[in-house]
Amino acid sequence: MKPVLDETHDSEAQSWVESANVAGSDFPIQNLPFGVFRRRDAGAEAGVGVAIGDRILDLDGMQSEGLLAEKSVRLAANACASDSLNPLMAAGAGPRRALRRRLHAILRQDAPVSDRQAAARHLIAQADVDMLLPAVVGDYTDFYASIFHATNVGKLFRPDNPLLPNYKYIPIGYHGRASSLVPTGTPVRRPCGQTRDGDADPNSAPKFGPTHALDYELEVGFFVSAGNRLGESIPIGEAEEHIFGICLVNDWSARDIQAWEYQPLGPFLGKSFATSLSPWVVTMEALAPFRTAAFARAEGDPAPLPYLFCQSDQEQGGLDLWLEVSLLSVRMREGGIAPVVLGRSNFRDLYWTMAQMLTHHASNGCNLRPGDLLASGTVSGADKTARGCLLELTSRGKDPVMLPTGEERKFLEDGDEIILRGFCERDGFRRIGLGSCRGTILPASAT
Ligand code: CA
Repeated sequence: MKPVLDETHDSEAQSWVESANVAGSDFPIQNLPFGVFRRRDAGAEAGVGVAIGDRILDLDGMQSEGLLAEKSVRLAANACASDSLNPLMAAGAGPRRALRRRLHAILRQDAPVSDRQAAARHLIAQADVDMLLPAVVGDYTDFYASIFHATNVGKLFRPDNPLLPNYKYIPIGYHGRASSLVPTGTPVRRPCGQTRDGDADPNSAPKFGPTHALDYELEVGFFVSAGNRLGESIPIGEAEEHIFGICLVNDWSARDIQAWEYQPLGPFLGKSFATSLSPWVVTMEALAPFRTAAFARAEGDPAPLPYLFCQSDQEQGGLDLWLEVSLLSVRMREGGIAPVVLGRSNFRDLYWTMAQMLTHHASNGCNLRPGDLLASGTVSGADKTARGCLLELTSRGKDPVMLPTGEERKFLEDGDEIILRGFCERDGFRRIGLGSCRGTILPASAT
């Protein structure tokens, strides 16, 4: 389906919420991402809000003012009377679009004065809330959709044959762990697990203890909106209608635990100790101006099998989304040094589109449910500056990264903070951002 542009994408539109008009704001009136927040006041309840500049518009409050009572927006507005986005996700694309257009009209500079005054009573400073997970995630699946990441990692283990023969036919993925998804800002405890020195005698026994190879993975997640019934699939031409929106994902990984455990069934405890999410879900509507062609496959690569091929997905299924990962060590923080960028990549470089990942996931009749999270896998690009994890960037620790303090990093140290960011920009449109996804490493528990 071709992305629809309407008045909500008008680059000239300004908001009466002044902070939304500041150049470089992630949340101008053209974005309007949804999230779940809780005021820091004692006893406050979680609620659904929309980010605008440095504020949050509380949708419960908007309902109580009767501002969302029109027939076309009532369904989506009622779905926002919740402590998660799952009901709004379940409502599907049509109601979500209607709500976006209504919120845009209320927040525009030229909105009726009565609407502005009523809405202003329900604006909260983002600095005064805690952001929670946006949805109750029933199931979380992580893909491996960057051919650059797959090739770079493959080379470390199989220099002569980095890419396995299935890669260009099938969006590779594994079932992740939903219970350890955490919102941005949640500290990440260094995990313990079984590891064995790769150079050790193949008959030596592994040890149990804290990982020495803790890594981040720069990823993008997308939430399922309306799902599919068990036993039914989702045609590729309809896949986008089943996607609600996107957020940043950091799939923390313990490479030494992973290396010992992953054969023959894939990642397990090296991944499931924590996965961080950015809290604002940027909708597919907000992303419409930034859609682009699917990744251009190299000559000689196979075409996607028919169930993964759709002309409109080939033409518009990509997304021009810049991603960035940076690190702040304890010494950098103490020295007042800004986080150092370790990698910049673009989501359009993924070998598989979101629609292909979703359609493939449901192709066996697996039911996807509203609020399920699918993540892209580490987003890397062709260039060395576009590597989305330390495993790739340091060639498994052989080529450490130098920090501005002179410290070296092969893998993450205790106290390191990792910050992910993402934004879309294109001539003729207002830049929109995903906000940030942060996490700081805590020392391992005593074993
Ligand atoms: Ca991953």
